[in-house]
Amino acid sequence: MISFDDTEIAFRSKSKFQLRKAYYLFKLMGKPILSKLGGEIANVAIKMHIPITGLIKSTIFQQFCGGESIENCSDKIDELAKHNIATILDYSVEGKASEKDFKKTMEETIAVLNFAHKNKNIPFAVFKITGLARFQLLEKINLDEELSTAEQQEYDRVIHRINKICKKAHQHKIPIMIDAEESWIQNAIDSIVETMMKTFNKEQAIIYNTIQMYRHDRLDYLKKIHENSKEEGYFIGVKLVRGAYLEKENERAKKMGYPTPIQPNKEACNEDYDSALEYACKNIHGISICAGTHNEESSLLLTRLMQLYNIERNNPKIYFSQLLGMSDHISYNLANKGYNIVKYVPYGPVKEVLPYLIRRAEENRSIAGQTGRELNLIIQEIKRRK
Ligand SMILES: Cc1cc2nc3c(=O)[nH]c(=O)nc-3n(C[C@H](O)[C@H](O)[C@H](O)COP(=O)(O)OP(=O)(O)OC[C@H]3O[C@@H](n4cnc5c(N)ncnc54)[C@H](O)[C@@H]3O)c2cc1C
Repeated sequence: MISFDDTEIAFRSKSKFQLRKAYYLFKLMGKPILSKLGGEIANVAIKMHIPITGLIKSTIFQQFCGGESIENCSDKIDELAKHNIATILDYSVEGKASEKDFKKTMEETIAVLNFAHKNKNIPFAVFKITGLARFQLLEKINLDEELSTAEQQEYDRVIHRINKICKKAHQHKIPIMIDAEESWIQNAIDSIVETMMKTFNKEQAIIYNTIQMYRHDRLDYLKKIHENSKEEGYFIGVKLVRGAYLEKENERAKKMGYPTPIQPNKEACNEDYDSALEYACKNIHGISICAGTHNEESSLLLTRLMQLYNIERNNPKIYFSQLLGMSDHISYNLANKGYNIVKYVPYGPVKEVLPYLIRRAEENRSIAGQTGRELNLIIQEIKRRK
C-alpha cells in the first residue's frame, strides 16, 4: 500500500536548513499580497538592473529550477537519481518570438537530447511549439485560414525545426513530449504532433502529445488517435495533464461568446482524467503515458490500475511526473516503491525563467489547498526531525 504521508521519504534529500527554507518560501507564497507583489517587484527590479538575481537564485529559483544551463543542472540530476527519480530538462525561457529565438530554442532542445543520450537519468525531453513558432501564425493555422506566401515559408521553417528535433529524438531513442497550450492553437499543435508520431513512432513511442483533460472533448480525442494509430500502424505517446489555462480559456470563451471547451466542473475533469488513465492501461500495448499530475488520488489510482492490468511498476510505458520543488511526497514515495518517476526540471538564466517562477508562485496561491498541503507536510517533517 502506498502512502503519500511518509514525510521522511518525501524529504529525505533535504537538509534541515533546506527544509526551513522551503517552509518560509511556501509560507510566503501562501500570502496572496506578498507573492503577487514579490513577482512584480522582481520584474521591475530586474528591468532596472537592481541586483536581485542573487536573492532570487538562492530562494525560489533553487526550489523550482535545476540551474541556469544544461551542465549547471548536473547536481540536481544526480541528487534526484540517488532516490531513483529521473529528470526532464525543460528549457523554460518564455515569451520570445523572433526567428533567432526560435532557432535558439531548437538548438537548445537538440543540445538537451544530446546531453540526455549520454545520461541515463534523463529518459525524456520536452518542448513547447510556441518556443519554435509565432503564436499568431499558429492561431491562423488553427482557424484554417489561408496563409500568405511569406507565412507559408515561415510555417515551413517551423516544421523544419520541429522535424529536426523529432529526428534527433528518434535517432537517440529519447522520447520527447510536446506540451499542450491554449485551445485556440491546440488543433494546429495536434496536427503537427500527429504527423510526427506517424513518422517517428513506428517501433516505439518517441513523440508524445499532451492531452488536457480539463477539456470536455479530450477523452474522445485520446480514443480517436489511438484508433488511428492502430489502423496506420504506429505507437502513441501521451502526457496526460488536467490543463494549465483554465481561467484564460473560460474568460476568452465568455468574452468572444462561444461555448467554453472546459468541463462543467472539477469533478468532470477528474473523471475524464481517471478514465484516460484506465483507457491507457487497458491499451498499454499501443499507448505509452506520462501522468503529469500532483493529484494524489489520480496517482494512487494509476498504481492500482497498473496492478489490475498486470503492468510492472518499472514498465517504461508508464511514468509519473511532477514539477521540481512540488509534490515531493508523491514523487519520492512512488519512486521508493519502484515506480517510474520523472521530475520536470526547468532551467535557464534567472531573469529569463522569472515568468515561470511567478506562475509557480501564482499557481501555488490559486490552487486551493496546494500550498497548504506542501506546507503542512514540511511542518510535519520539521517536527519529526526535532
Ligand atoms: C509534469 C507536468 C507537466 C505538465 N505539462 C502541462 C502541459 O503541457 N500543458 C498544460 O496545459 N498543463 C501542463 N501541466 C499543468 C497541469 O495541466 C495542471 O495545471 C497542474 O498539474 C494541476 O493539476 P493536477 O492534476 O496536478 O492537480 P489538481 O490540483 O487535482 O487539479 C487542478 C486542475 O484541475 C483543473 N480544474 C480545476 N478546477 C476546474 C473546474 N472547475 N473545471 C474543470 N477543471 C478544473 C485545472 O486543470 C487545474 O489546474 C503539467 C503539469 C505537470 C505536473
